[in-house]
Amino acid sequence: MKVIDFHIHVGDPKDWTPWVVEFFKLRNPIYFNTIFDKLSAEKVITYLKSQGIERAVMLAEYAPKTSGVLTNKYISEFCKGHDELIPFGSLCLYDEKPLTEQAEEAYNLLKMKGFKMLPTYAHFYPNDERLFPFYEQVQSWDIPVLFHTGTSVFKGSRVKYGDPLFLDDVADSFPHMKIILEHGGRPFWYDRAYWMITRHENVFIGITGIPIDKLLEYFPKLEKYQDRFLFGSDWPGLPEIKILIDRIYSLPISNEAKEKILYKNAGRLLGLL
Ligand SMILES: [Zn+2]
Repeated sequence: MKVIDFHIHVGDPKDWTPWVVEFFKLRNPIYFNTIFDKLSAEKVITYLKSQGIERAVMLAEYAPKTSGVLTNKYISEFCKGHDELIPFGSLCLYDEKPLTEQAEEAYNLLKMKGFKMLPTYAHFYPNDERLFPFYEQVQSWDIPVLFHTGTSVFKGSRVKYGDPLFLDDVADSFPHMKIILEHGGRPFWYDRAYWMITRHENVFIGITGIPIDKLLEYFPKLEKYQDRFLFGSDWPGLPEIKILIDRIYSLPISNEAKEKILYKNAGRLLGLL
């Protein structure tokens, strides 16, 4: 089966806050010692291929108080010329440049294929109306937006902004915007994330960071909603992506559902299929 990984972090050690660098060092010492310092697209692609991954989403991040700053420009340049790497932008809420201008530049100039927003890291509510003109844009461009939902291990993050239900306003006001609840509201809002996909046809759940052996416990109707779940790894926050893929293969669900979670749903959202 082909695999698209919807959640990868790239960035030089100097771009991340010290506790994120420490986290990588502890969680993925191989990466820390061999790839991190002189990171290149070639090295990342070689690693992804070794894990059986065809394409992967590379995430920009504006969260200086929490994890660090990976600019849209950096991610765009990192992915340039490599079809395997799919650049996702982010917006900086502290920038003087209006959000719509930042989005315009990311989409038109830097060729971003989607966005990742970090309410808990950058301290904003996703249903803040300041963001609505941006939501209007992504809806008209028909590109997905990933929202970090649930908790985080990194200091500086504020869980109050991570409730998946804040996206109810957004999904309702922008019924054609493709909204991904990344982490499915982990670890105590799974029921809310699930309710969101039953209520809104434009909402999806990114399973990144959710223990795969518990997936059916948290989402018993995974088979029924097989069109709405997406695979992601959060690499390099763990040493081996292949282990996660094997766990998906072992789930007692249909092959069709596995293929959708690992590849087809992402391919469809990214306009590749
Ligand atoms: Zn992540």
